[in-house]
Formats: sequence, structure tokens, C-alpha cells
Amino acid sequence: MSTAEAATDELIVRCPGTGKEVGRVPVTSGADVAALAASLRAAQPAWEALGYAGRAAWLHRWRDWMLDNEQQLLALVQSETGKSWNDTNVELPIALEVINYYAKNAASFLADEHPKPHTPAMATKQIAVRFRPHPLIALITPWNGPIGNPMLDLPAALMAGCAALTKPSEVTPLTWAALIDGWKAIGAPPVLDCAQGGGDVGAAVVDVVDMVHFTGSVATGRRIGARCGERLIPCSLELGGKDPMLVLADADLERAANAAVWGGFMGAGQACISVERVYVDAPVFDEFVDLVATKTRALRVGMDPGPKPAFDLGAMATEDQVAIVERHVADALAKGARALTGGRRLDGPGLFYAPTVLVDVDHTMDCMREETFGPTLPIMKVDGTDEAVALANDSAYGLSGSVWTRDRAEGERIAALLEVGAVNLNNVYINLFQLGAPQGGWRDSGVGGRLGGPSGIRKYCREQVVVGDRIAPKSELPWYPASATKLALQARGSRFLGARDWRRRLGLAPRSSQG
Ligand code: NAD
Repeated sequence: MSTAEAATDELIVRCPGTGKEVGRVPVTSGADVAALAASLRAAQPAWEALGYAGRAAWLHRWRDWMLDNEQQLLALVQSETGKSWNDTNVELPIALEVINYYAKNAASFLADEHPKPHTPAMATKQIAVRFRPHPLIALITPWNGPIGNPMLDLPAALMAGCAALTKPSEVTPLTWAALIDGWKAIGAPPVLDCAQGGGDVGAAVVDVVDMVHFTGSVATGRRIGARCGERLIPCSLELGGKDPMLVLADADLERAANAAVWGGFMGAGQACISVERVYVDAPVFDEFVDLVATKTRALRVGMDPGPKPAFDLGAMATEDQVAIVERHVADALAKGARALTGGRRLDGPGLFYAPTVLVDVDHTMDCMREETFGPTLPIMKVDGTDEAVALANDSAYGLSGSVWTRDRAEGERIAALLEVGAVNLNNVYINLFQLGAPQGGWRDSGVGGRLGGPSGIRKYCREQVVVGDRIAPKSELPWYPASATKLALQARGSRFLGARDWRRRLGLAPRSSQG
């Protein structure tokens, strides 16, 4: 069973929790992608001319529309992801916060800068650095957060003055289509639209825009990065992860175990910053594992309608994801690991996999090296922090990680040794919700980043430099005609300003040759 089947001209969406069809969406043809791009481009100059307050007003109206339609939107998220009601509710707060943040701060983040001339020779120059939007950007997103993923990035792009052509995952096209309808329903300027379909439609989108923000797998990120390179357009890539959790001997084990269970299994483990592997110092290994196994056995798996949550985690999104989890677990067990909980798919029509705690794992196993993106928590015993750090860094990925210790200074020391874009001390996930801090992966986990105050909106802009002059003589020293006097003056001036000692400044001969 696949959650979205691509007929030639429409996506058929099935709920991963029930297997039932929940909607159909027409696939956007190549010609329609080009037409969408053209109409978005046509509308962009007026959007840019609206200014920050004008654009913020539309984003605020869209936010209010989301709040007024919250229950319908969350029901759609759940219907196409199969998440538990609890996990479904994570989505909307992200959208609200990011809209409010960039609507409030865009004007100051993109205010003109006026660097001072770097040398007295340029003292008369007046410099301005301006941030002008890429006219049309693409936002291509995966299925694990139908609202959250695009909304982490879109508000900054719209506030920068860009038009945006979005492409949600073919697995979860319904929620995003509803949000685009919402933008149109409030009467907002036609600078936001979406193309629907699979990778071929995504590729067509990349070909018609001026900048791409992509969130998704490493394999697709490489393809998009290569195509953007060919087209000489910028891209930012938020890719997969294999986030390590390092539990030191002095950690608060109860808190660490609670975090491991939530961080490993939230959204059925289908988050880029899920806890994918745990390294625990030998003296506390048994106690930590007991706590995690007990808490995991208590988890309730299923898709509930809300509003009172009856389950903790829900379904996996696709049959392909379940197959990856089954392969990783089978590989680990074959190489000597033990499953303390789960280790199997649950019966029933939906794509449910029992939360699985694995021990006796090592780095010969796929579950410790490849992104699983599922409800598995492999826990490995280590002999001290040096080994934990070495194993954490033994990975192609570098998205984020966490360090668990009561010693703050030691936590910060270890953070500096980890090859990842973010480290949470005694917490998981929480870096993503610091909108003033950038989220970006190292190594194969990405290029560029999102959020992070000014950098999260400046990436949607081109920098334009305007240099003026306080005085404007008829000619300047380097200008034609060439003359020995002007050349000598320039050479003397350059020497005077460039040298850092008086002999060279004044062009005197070295002392030894003065005789
Ligand atoms: P995916 O790469 O298969 O697909 C993502 C999107 O790219 C989809 O919309 C897809 O249609 C589109 N696409 C596929 N081929 C394309 C092409 N050649 N050109 C343009 N677009 C193309 O990823 P997925 O399976 O949907 O999502 C899971 C992955 O996303 C995981 O690896 C996960 O770690 C990653 N992810 C990363 C972050 C982050 O912020 N770093 C967040 C969420 C998910």
C-alpha cells in the first residue's frame, strides 16, 4: 500500500492510518508549471512595492485564517500523514510563530547597511548595501510536516518580497493545497501558489525559479543542488540526519530517558532531528536502558481523532518507510543486536510499526549508520566521552545532536567536538524552535540553513551595493589620460596608506644600504 498513488494526471491520497482514500489532487503539467511561474513573476513587483507593513498585513490575515480553520487543517494533516492527534498538533504553532517573527522583524533584518569606507582614500564615498528579493523562489518540501516544513521557510521569503512557487510532497498534497486556497480566499496578492506532483514536477519547478529552498532527502538534495549549479542559481538544502544523543555518567537519567523516548518516537520517528542513535556511558548504561525500555513499552500506538489524545505516536507515512525500518531492524538482529521492545510491524490496515529499542548495537549495523526515519532507538554502550564523541562523529550526517550531563562546562566542551550544526544540552529538538538561531546541517545534512534571525531572510535576497560620492571632480587620478605625475602620486599615496612603518611609508632606502 502506498499513501499516494500517482495516476498520470492525479495524485490519489490514502490515509496511512487506515489505508482509505482521503482525497485526490490534479498533477500540475510542465506547461502549467511554466504558466504558474509566469503569473507569479508578473505579480511580484507589486508585492515588493507593498513594503514590509503591507506584506506583514497579508501574512497576519493568512495566520488568522489558519487559526479560524485550525481543526479542518489539522484533520487534513492527520488524514494524509496518519499521525496521532497529539503529534498532529505540533504543526500549526510553528506556522504562527514563524509568521509573527518575520512579519515583525523583516524590516530591521533587511534594513540597508552603510559600511564605513575602509581607507582614507575612499573617505568621500557613501556606501549602501541593500537587500533585494529574488523575484521567484521555489519551496520544495517532504511529507513529514505538511504545514510545519514549508512554514519554517515561507514567511521569510514572502516578507523579503519574493513570490513563491511551492511543491509539497506527492505523499501529502492535501493540507498544503488547503493552505494555498486559504491565501487565495483572504484575497491576498497572487504571489503564492503551488505545483502538485512527484519528483518530475519538482524538477520542473527548479527550472523556472531564481532560488530554491529544499527540505528532503540527501539524494534529492544532491540532484537539486547539481541542477541549481547548472542554472547558476542559489539553493539552500535542509537534508537528512542521524542525530546522536550522548548520555554521560552524571546525566539526569530520568529526564534523558523521557527525552530519548519522545525524541526517538515523536511522529513515529519521522523527523529530520529525531534521536536516531544513543551512546551511553558504561556506568549508567543498564539503568538508562531499563528506563527507556519501560517507558517505550508504555507507549500507545494508533491514530485517534482527538481532541483528547488516546495515542502517543501514529502511523508511518509510506510503505517504503516501513520497509527501511524493517530492513534496519532485521540487519541489526542478524548482526547480534537485541530488540527489547517492538521489532515488528503491527497488525491491521495501517502502516504502524511498534516502537523498537535496540541494544548490543554497533557501527557495522545499518541502524547506526543510515538514516532510519522510523520508530527505532538503538542504544550503544560506550567507555567514556571520548568514545562517545568519536562514534557520534563517525557519520556522513551532521544535522544536530544532544549531550546529557549535569556539568554545563563539560557539555559545552563536548558540543565543540561534535561535527553537527546544532547541539542541545539536556534537551532534544529544541534548537529548531529558537527562531533567532540558524538551523542548518553540516556534512551531508545540508548546505545553508533556515531561520537564524537576519540570515534566514537575507538568503531570499540578492545584495545590491550602491556607492555614491560626496564630491565629484571632473576627473579622478586613475582615469585617462595616463601621466607620470599622476602615476607617481598614486604610488606615493598607496605606499603611504598601505605601509605600517615610517621608512616604507616615506619611501626611504633600507638602513644597511644607506652606508
Ligand atoms: P524526498 O527527497 O524524497 O522528497 C522531498 C521533495 O522533493 C518532495 O516534494 C519530492 O516530490 C521532491 N523531489 C523529488 N525528486 C526531485 C527532483 N529531482 N527535483 C525536485 N524535487 C524533487 O524526501 P522525503 O522522503 O519526502 O522526506 C524525507 C527526508 O526529508 C528525510 O531524509 C528527512 O531527514 C528529510 N527532512 C529534512 C528536514 C530538515 O530540515 N533537515 C526536515 C524534514 C525532513
